[in-house]
Amino acid sequence: MRLTYQSTRGGESGVTASMAILQGLAKDGGLFMPVEIPKLDVSFETLSGLTYQETAYEVMKLFFADFTEEELKSCISKAYDSKFDTGEIAPLAKVDGAYYLELYHGSTIAFKDMALSILPHLMTVSAKKNKADKEIVILTATSGDTGKAAMAGFADVPGTRIIVFYPKDGVSRIQELQMRTQKGDNTSVVAIRGNFDDAQTGVKRLFGNQALKEELVSKGFQLSSANSINIGRLVPQVVYYVYAYARLLANQELEQGEEINVVVPTGNFGNILAAYFAKKMGLPIKTLVCASNENKVLYDFFTTGTYDKRREFILTSSPSMDILISSNLERLIYLSTGCDGAANAAFMQELAEKGSYTITPAMREFMSDFTGGFATQKENAAAIKNIFDRAGYLIDTHTGVAAAVYKHYRASTGDTAKTVIVSTASPYKFSGSVMEAIAGSEELVGRDEFQIVDDLSRFTGTAIPAAVEEIRSAPVLHNLECDVEKMEETVKNLLGI
Ligand SMILES: *Cc1c(COP(=O)(O)O)cnc(C)c1O
Repeated sequence: MRLTYQSTRGGESGVTASMAILQGLAKDGGLFMPVEIPKLDVSFETLSGLTYQETAYEVMKLFFADFTEEELKSCISKAYDSKFDTGEIAPLAKVDGAYYLELYHGSTIAFKDMALSILPHLMTVSAKKNKADKEIVILTATSGDTGKAAMAGFADVPGTRIIVFYPKDGVSRIQELQMRTQKGDNTSVVAIRGNFDDAQTGVKRLFGNQALKEELVSKGFQLSSANSINIGRLVPQVVYYVYAYARLLANQELEQGEEINVVVPTGNFGNILAAYFAKKMGLPIKTLVCASNENKVLYDFFTTGTYDKRREFILTSSPSMDILISSNLERLIYLSTGCDGAANAAFMQELAEKGSYTITPAMREFMSDFTGGFATQKENAAAIKNIFDRAGYLIDTHTGVAAAVYKHYRASTGDTAKTVIVSTASPYKFSGSVMEAIAGSEELVGRDEFQIVDDLSRFTGTAIPAAVEEIRSAPVLHNLECDVEKMEETVKNLLGI
């Protein structure tokens, strides 16, 4: 029996992988989930001899069951090529007793490249398979990194358009410039006057707008999503956990079967959910440490069982994690109810109407592999400085949250299991905050963004990534801005309808 997908809210089932990718979100507003999480069917001995691309095939073939071997291998080879600045694609660095899994070697220097390099290929194959004749319109909300990575992936891909919404004052200057200099006739970027949650909720509302959908279909368009609510984003993210474990085995850092912990800097709960999928596939992962910044809604959730988004939204030095509604948590909630769509839908309705929900003790027990931690901006900066001073290793502000949370986790639990810390962005994407952390805020006075980039390079002896050099002089091509209430109108204008 081929693996199929169903909605976390119970309204759709028996959906093929390709249809789930094409659709992005289920019609009932739920997220697509495989009916079961498949087990790896090759040994770790075999895996430890595989390249990243080969590992990707072993993982993805199990989830994307209606793709042929040829289709999948072609998507993989187009995605994980010289766009990455290292042949390893996702290298590990052993620093200060932990392993940093560097996921920022792709073209937009954040971990979103890991999945968004392949999603456009999965999507075009899916469209062909399902004889979709409409132009695919990718609507995406971004907290800064998804937008650029998605546009880079979809730019000039025939049969697609992409529209990205980002929070006007909620991204770093480099992130904003990366997006607003994006080339490609089919790309659009819109700054919204609101925060990331406004952008994400607005996009989800457009997906749920039946009248809009019908109008789009009649004009030859079909909506899809490049956010991590799309299963085509989530599955490629499972790969690097399997790959990392296999590399550690190959390098004799681990014994056969030895359990590791993973620490993941978390916002929308996509990356850490992928780690959980990897565990369910058979990877020996003990604890999944969910690291939050001061928007610590997930920390509170894992410590109390209550998810409560009713709180102040804080703009931090790790903007890609400034999120109060973590979309992918819905997938874990769903699993923890025993895949009860109605029960999950009730929690999500409570969240939408009341702003909070409390899960049952049994559901909490189900999630006991997870533990939450958070770091303040001060602790984050101290972690970045400490690792740089002690080991000469430079991390960004998101990875800094994970490093600070890991330190605290270790000290408070005494758990000394070997640990993979997921490193999600190049420090150059957040050069101002990173420079401030290692050299002090006085170093920033009177310096513009690119002077700070140069300072950071000089101060740390690290090279400026090509992705940053590129935008130094690139012309700004996108100037659109809109209110949250005007997102529908903006989409229609952009599509000329
Ligand atoms: C998106 C992002 C995160 C958060 O990942 P989620 O999958 O949303 O939890 C962390 N760090 C960086 C740099 C990101 O771009």
